[in-house]
Amino acid sequence: MSAYDAIRERLAAGELVILDGAIGTEILRRDLSWADHQVLRHPDKIRGLHEDYVRAGADVVTTNTFQLARRSLLNHFRDRAHMRHVGAPDLDTRADRFLTAAVELAREARDRAAAGRSVAIAGAVTTLEWCFRPDLAPSEEEMRAEYREIMDVMARAGADLILLETMNSIAEARVGLEAATEAGLPCWTSFVCDERGRLFTGESLADAVRALEPLGPDVIMVNCAPPADCTAGLRELVAARRGPCGLYPHIGRFDPPEWLFTDEYPPPRYLQEARRWAEMGARVIGGCCGTTPDHIGALARGLHGEQA
Ligand SMILES: [Zn+2]
Repeated sequence: MSAYDAIRERLAAGELVILDGAIGTEILRRDLSWADHQVLRHPDKIRGLHEDYVRAGADVVTTNTFQLARRSLLNHFRDRAHMRHVGAPDLDTRADRFLTAAVELAREARDRAAAGRSVAIAGAVTTLEWCFRPDLAPSEEEMRAEYREIMDVMARAGADLILLETMNSIAEARVGLEAATEAGLPCWTSFVCDERGRLFTGESLADAVRALEPLGPDVIMVNCAPPADCTAGLRELVAARRGPCGLYPHIGRFDPPEWLFTDEYPPPRYLQEARRWAEMGARVIGGCCGTTPDHIGALARGLHGEQA
């Protein structure tokens, strides 16, 4: 049985699954810049961070691949010719190489730290343009080609599933989910939501559930919004969906391009919130920006065995 089959069985049995916490902010906290993901320059640091999440009790660890896509690199230039003219020589192939390296680091961390537990590797993929700006989304045709390219690399590198995260529209989530399925990977889909629990397009999570469920995502979640906003989103999700729902809020404040750390949600308070989310019906709980292995450790110790 693969690591992900075991997770899927637990979800089917109504058990709680713990997702890991933040990668980007945790790299900052460890005194590295997040700018180039550090998968090739400091592989030991990234692998070590994944290991910390595995040891803390995460059942699913996510790769350090947020917005790691050819488009994100190309967006800095006038066009592809300009990128080739003035850009670093490896930009055309960098996204694919970094995606592959990032999946390998997460797999190595599992091998070192799982100690016989089933831990699945989720390839993290987000919107092709900025996750808080659905108005910038490319055409569906462009999305389809670009997501397919990313999902194929993730599949070849050995990801167990795709975590489509911080999605801001039903249309882009649907195309991403279809691309993951075509690449042969199970998919969890997570949306960023506002304080009313709505997508940033104004679409409702109930509509998102109706649009996505026929495509068979294993879990639908909300993430990268404050705990109260994600709680509102979770309420909408649980009311609309038959299958597993989940959430992983951020804590702290966004200070572009990085994050300000605050002490509003130390691990014990985060666990308190998480108990409420489990009671509301969440079956996957983790942490987004600002959360640490200590937060995930608190969830794993405090929540396992407590769900209905
Ligand atoms: Zn986040």
